[in-house]
Amino acid sequence: MTRLLTHPTIDWKDDGTPVAREAGDVYFTAGDGLAETRAVFLKGCGLPEAWTGRDEFTIAETGFGTGLNFLALCELWQANRPHPDAWLHFVSFEGFPLTRDDAARALKTWPELKPYADRLLAAWPGPIRRVHHEVWQDLGITLTLHLGDIHDTLPQSEFQADAWFLDGFSPAKNEDMWAAELYGRIAARSKPGAVIGTFTVAGAVRRGLADEGFNVAKAQGHGRKRERLEATLLKPSTSAQDVYGLRGSASTAKRIAILGAGIAGASAAHALSVRGANVTVFDPAGIASGASGNPLALLMPRLDAGDTVQARLLIDAYLAARQTYSSMDGAHETSVRQMPKDTAELSRFAKLLADPPLPLEDLEAISGGGLLHKRAMILEPQKIVASLLEGVRVQIGTVNIDLRNRTVNGETFDAIIMANAMSAIQQFDWLKLEGRLGQVEFVTGATRVEADALASGHYALALNDERLWGATFEKIPQDADATTSDTAREDNAEALKKLSPWWRRDAKDHQVTSRAAIRATTADRLPLIGAVPNLEAMLEAFSGLRTGRAAETDAPLLPGIFLVNGFGARGFTWGPWAGRILAAMCLGGPVAAEVSALEAISPSRLILRALKRGEI
Ligand code: SAM
Repeated sequence: MTRLLTHPTIDWKDDGTPVAREAGDVYFTAGDGLAETRAVFLKGCGLPEAWTGRDEFTIAETGFGTGLNFLALCELWQANRPHPDAWLHFVSFEGFPLTRDDAARALKTWPELKPYADRLLAAWPGPIRRVHHEVWQDLGITLTLHLGDIHDTLPQSEFQADAWFLDGFSPAKNEDMWAAELYGRIAARSKPGAVIGTFTVAGAVRRGLADEGFNVAKAQGHGRKRERLEATLLKPSTSAQDVYGLRGSASTAKRIAILGAGIAGASAAHALSVRGANVTVFDPAGIASGASGNPLALLMPRLDAGDTVQARLLIDAYLAARQTYSSMDGAHETSVRQMPKDTAELSRFAKLLADPPLPLEDLEAISGGGLLHKRAMILEPQKIVASLLEGVRVQIGTVNIDLRNRTVNGETFDAIIMANAMSAIQQFDWLKLEGRLGQVEFVTGATRVEADALASGHYALALNDERLWGATFEKIPQDADATTSDTAREDNAEALKKLSPWWRRDAKDHQVTSRAAIRATTADRLPLIGAVPNLEAMLEAFSGLRTGRAAETDAPLLPGIFLVNGFGARGFTWGPWAGRILAAMCLGGPVAAEVSALEAISPSRLILRALKRGEI
């Protein structure tokens, strides 16, 4: 089974209406798409009146297709936004994404939607199973697009909708999508009173919704269709236990303190302030003074073979990082030639190429069993971190924290995000963070080249006349300092020679500067992103795990305390993805990640796992 999704084959009617050949159905009614969208979905869900007076409103859709419904909604929102700080969240599901060209061709029909369509098309996602996310700050709109079969992705999504557009081809032509399991999953992600608009009045749909507590009524259809459906959820939905503490604890946080001005803190600050939060970043030492402060950094995907949670979240994080940095000063697109570092990696690469997790515009085989990553990036960390912190209040100097009262230097906040790497163990020793010493070597004045990169365990970067190579990743005691060493420099020199003797010769004639920094890592090598649990209360609430009982309650959390940590040597990959997850947890709105990914990175996992193993 391939991990890439299939584009639909599109046939075009004379008036430009797209028809999905495999499904044998249209994306919208020929000649009447926009009017139909407005009548069936927008008016059918009582919009814009339904969002009057609201600070945020969430709409979900089954079947993103061309994005027409979303764009018509954007237009309505811009003209009727309840107030300048209000947010519209749109969550949609799509299993057979159109190509960008097909989407552009379909949307060309409506010049009035062009400003929104241009934006959507500019970041149109590739055909990979993942969660695509966009924030349109000026309009107050977020888009969270779950790519993959809806029966896989809907159970993996985390949001509560005020309204739904059910739009997945006609049930007669696409029975699978409208299968019986769909309705319970919709109800579980609906707020009480949530409304549904759809064009179909099929009996199975009506019964499916009614069985889940929706009051279903037929309404007058649009155009030549006699009827359509409206539904309202009468009973409150029952949400599953939040064992991993994924829903956070401060859903209305507006004033937020972030401890740490490295890539973790800066990315969180950026994502939160784009969503309108009032953020202050505190750091005792300075901006990007620790592991995020190397002169150059490499952003490249780590690709795992197989369609696992970890493989998918690594790609999600990489693509989120690329999307965030692409418009920033200090980001340079490059290709990376990655050669296998050993035979295990050689066979892993072969598996990857047989079932590529990224489209071919990103990834290619090279001779010798290597991979060519075609759209990676060389980053100038100082510039990137400065861009992320633009417009954010930063306080450098002494940081006094009182987590219980949520104060930092005497100021009270709604939430505190701890992005302070190894320092976090002062408060939470159960995180068991391991410090790893990473040393890199740097020269300027080398032969000028455009961005270029090589990797094979170690890596080497070239940008203009600068070269950077490394890095070591050495286990050190928790209280050790970051000091450079000749041994590390020799290791790095040896590695550079293997990567490219020519680069090594070129660098040799110049003054080499070494830089070492400590990277906080976790035992399972995944980062820690999310709400911080209350250790004592967790041990009590989940004591049954020690004897094999199931977890049956919500994780007890420290109110308003969040963590972003354990980035290891991949800070610039994890940062933006972590930032958007924290923004949703602190401010509310759909979380742009799969539930299984959120569980895999949740701080609570460490305690749950230790309990299951009888370690605490
Ligand atoms: N709302 C869309 C628009 O504004 O253009 C039109 C949606 S079109 C009628 C139905 C969509 O549902 C198609 O894009 C199709 O690929 C998608 N779809 C069908 N079956 C699916 C499934 N099992 N999982 C996810 N998406 C599916």
